[in-house]
Amino acid sequence: MTSQPTPAVAVATDPAQSTWCSHCKADTRFTIGVFVLSSTGVTRVNGLSFCDVCDDPDSPLPVRRIDRG
Ligand SMILES: [Zn+2]
Repeated sequence: MTSQPTPAVAVATDPAQSTWCSHCKADTRFTIGVFVLSSTGVTRVNGLSFCDVCDDPDSPLPVRRIDRG
């Protein structure tokens, strides 16, 4: 059994940038670009994006309910 050579791949990220969150209407969203460096070149994959308010599992926004009596 012969072993295949392992392709040289590295992953790099952008510094996080704060952006506008359209859901909670605040400048609380962060976007991080992700790049994959391989022998064929550099590929930008979908960046990571999360909102400091909306995506916080410890303190999610309260569910809005309309009390219709
Ligand atoms: Zn948000």
